[in-house]
Amino acid sequence: MTPDSLTPAVRGPRSLLARIRDLMAQQDDAQARLDRLTDIIAEETASDVCSIYLVRPSGALELSATHGLKAEAVHTTRLRAGEGLVGLVARRARPFSVEDAPSHPDFAYRPETGEEPFKSFVGVPILRGGRLVGVLTAQTKAVRPSTEEEIETLQTVAMLLAEIVASGDLVSSEAFSGLEVRLSKPERFQGKALSGGLVVGVAVKHEPHVRAQRMVADDETVELQRLDEAIGRLRRSVDQLLDSGRVPMGTPSREVLEAYRMFAHDRGWLNQLREAVRAGLTAEAAVERVRNEHRARLMKARDVHFRERLHDLEDLANRLLRHLARSEDVADQLPENAVLIARSVGPAELLDFDRSRLAGIALEEGSVTSHAAIVAKALGLPMVGRVEGALDRIEDGDPVILDGEFGLLHARPSEEVRAVYDERIESQAARRRVYAGLRGAPATTRDGVRLSLQMNAGLLIEMSRLADSGAEGVGLFRTEFQFMVSDTLPRLNAQTELYTAIFEAAGDQPVVFRTLDLGGDKVTPYTPSMREPNPAMGWRALRMGLDRPGLTRYQLRALVRAAAGRDLKVLFPMVAKPAEFAEARAMLDQEVEHARRHGHEPPKSVRAGFMLETPAIAFQPDACLAMADFVSLGANDLMQYFFAADRENPKVADRYDAISPSAIALLTSIREACDRHGKPINVCGELAGRPLEACVLGALGYRTLSMAAGSIGPVKRALAGCDLGKLKAWLDEAVTDSGCDDLRARLMEAGDAAGLSPESVDTFKSI
Ligand code: PEP
Ligand code: MG
Repeated sequence: MTPDSLTPAVRGPRSLLARIRDLMAQQDDAQARLDRLTDIIAEETASDVCSIYLVRPSGALELSATHGLKAEAVHTTRLRAGEGLVGLVARRARPFSVEDAPSHPDFAYRPETGEEPFKSFVGVPILRGGRLVGVLTAQTKAVRPSTEEEIETLQTVAMLLAEIVASGDLVSSEAFSGLEVRLSKPERFQGKALSGGLVVGVAVKHEPHVRAQRMVADDETVELQRLDEAIGRLRRSVDQLLDSGRVPMGTPSREVLEAYRMFAHDRGWLNQLREAVRAGLTAEAAVERVRNEHRARLMKARDVHFRERLHDLEDLANRLLRHLARSEDVADQLPENAVLIARSVGPAELLDFDRSRLAGIALEEGSVTSHAAIVAKALGLPMVGRVEGALDRIEDGDPVILDGEFGLLHARPSEEVRAVYDERIESQAARRRVYAGLRGAPATTRDGVRLSLQMNAGLLIEMSRLADSGAEGVGLFRTEFQFMVSDTLPRLNAQTELYTAIFEAAGDQPVVFRTLDLGGDKVTPYTPSMREPNPAMGWRALRMGLDRPGLTRYQLRALVRAAAGRDLKVLFPMVAKPAEFAEARAMLDQEVEHARRHGHEPPKSVRAGFMLETPAIAFQPDACLAMADFVSLGANDLMQYFFAADRENPKVADRYDAISPSAIALLTSIREACDRHGKPINVCGELAGRPLEACVLGALGYRTLSMAAGSIGPVKRALAGCDLGKLKAWLDEAVTDSGCDDLRARLMEAGDAAGLSPESVDTFKSI
């Protein structure tokens, strides 16, 4: 006898799905419906037994409906988590089949079920949004292997079953009370703050959900047509995004989109989808079914590149589902204050969401340096990463609170938690209204000193904040960000395009481009990464740029080309001796010459500056100042080297204060040296964006500060309330007491006596 002759004819899933659809249309009670379902599945798969086990809050699996086992066992037989073959399926969350179940070591015999005559066993997990809600099994008296087709059919049914189980009538019926299918209790996820801000909103899972009523097709032709139309729309939307110029060449967003375009035309994928529709599923269910298969493969894949591609395919499936939803039901678009909950999200996708509705993002993965986090910060979107289990424990539409300050995600928050956040949000909004009112006004102190406040940026999308923050130009454009969010080294043309777009976005406002400051914690997938004993003092920034002159030359060439007919300002980071700046400056001059020789229009003007961020230059700045057109004070690095305290190490990062006699002496001597040489200096780094520090910098004679766009309002408000002359006089006296290490506290206390109005002091406290 061949195994085939042992295998009874299993009918295809079409007729099974059609019968399930009819069943769902009937008004049975929940138990009757599940019982009928097991009858239908058993018949259609030619099995002697079909059972549904559902997960109880304890984690036990309860026999909840059966065809073939004893009816008395229903709601009586419970298997502990991991017990028996059913427990095995649950534990692995994967299908499992065995020809002769009783001989399997994990087989758990339960006499009350009358299970002994049954030999073959197939079990598939019932998963809802990645969470196990039960196990579906089929058994036969004969010892026989199960076919792949049979397992697939059961998986398709399990997908439907997950939705039926979660639907209202079953959850509310008594026999099923306590089932954890729809979560209702408040939960709190402690993650990692990736981008600041608070949101009270509504959860939107990144993976669109297909409802049970939308899974079984009424008409195959209609579904095939819907699928084809949605694929057409998907392709057009990807093409449009690629052609719109919103996604610059060489950026990761662009590469992801190009991969999407390739997949959207991939025959294998399209055939799989059409096959699933021909098997009786709706277009949505077909997409979900194929996506589940990819997910199963994804879990097993070891090759990182392959996993990446599968991730792309999954993301594409999500997009396709959104297109299908759009054609069906406009309300499926993002709700107001949507908080996206996802495993991970690509930078390109973030750009794709409706910004007026997307209010925050929570990721199960993600790190501060992840591309999505960089983009979220640039967009001013609160983001929290590493919220493990959030996808399993949160449903679409659940109320959530996202706290990007402390890295928290609250699901279904209690009234008390909500009230606390409502208050915090209200006081932030009030402050923001004050800052918005100052947007168009110049930054002038109480005693009439005018300062220029500029903005730091690193991505093209941030340029829109130039207008809404009231910044007077970009004082620091960190070019390495574009490199960090790219999977491959951006080519000359891509870089030129990007820098041109930045010039265009800035209009007639100035932009200072800093050359690559890679190394340390700023890593890219394609530049050499090595474990350095002390990365902050390692091979980074201009050191790398001079050792790899090709990289720097290319970047300078792109900057010179983009600056055709414009004012080009180039800043070199991490200069520690004058010869380094001289070498870098010479490279820039060569590139301007190269452009001329090759008939490119040269920039209208070219200015070169260096970042003053090493003590070596701070104590002997003359040689560099003589060569430079301008200077930028990199306070983040300068202070970390000055105090010998790693800025990335939370144990020491905030231990030392720039408002201290020693740092004030250093900052004063730097400003004096710049004045002697007649060279403008701009302070960038976190220091410049903190209101109290900004006032102190003003008192020390600094007139240009560059900061995160969001800091401009608070700094402007603090300066408006500050009398720089009075503050200077107070500081002069205070710092003569060189042993004083509580200068900040004394300054805040002095208030008006140090030239600080109550509003200024209020602003310091709010930050
Ligand atoms: C700095 O060091 O202050 C600075 C602005 O540069 P970065 O933070 O990019 O090192
Ligand atoms: Mg720096």
